[in-house]
Amino acid sequence: MTDRIPLDHLTSDALDALYEQLEAAEASETQRQLTAARKAFASATTRAARAEATISRVRALAQQWQASVRPGEPHPAAVAVLAVLDQPAPTAATQATGPREHCGDLKPPFSDTAERTECILRPGHHGSHADNTGCRWWHADNEHQEQPHA
Ligand SMILES: [Zn+2]
Repeated sequence: MTDRIPLDHLTSDALDALYEQLEAAEASETQRQLTAARKAFASATTRAARAEATISRVRALAQQWQASVRPGEPHPAAVAVLAVLDQPAPTAATQATGPREHCGDLKPPFSDTAERTECILRPGHHGSHADNTGCRWWHADNEHQEQPHA
């Protein structure tokens, strides 16, 4: 913990230095969150690839079973397995039952053409919001900064 500078001794340069420290701290937090998000994405990609490979093996086994047990005749169990595999996957909305992993605050519409990205910082973070491009924003009302996001 650094010593607190008395307000009467605070110069413009000292204030600039404090703002630079704040920006560096926020940037490093953003970088930490970005690294965590990239690791989670890589893990999800690996697990998805393994799941696809498993589904392919089960499908091949069911087709092999269908062909070898009753050639030319539908086998109820093999048909049922293949039917389940052909069903569309549940949507992300029905799977998202766990806690939110990021703030999600929508970036204000800075212009008509700017994409409205979401804040990628952890829920309930302090300070300004930040998206995955490093853009930062905060809201004019203090209420938004004092109450953590649910
Ligand atoms: Zn945020």
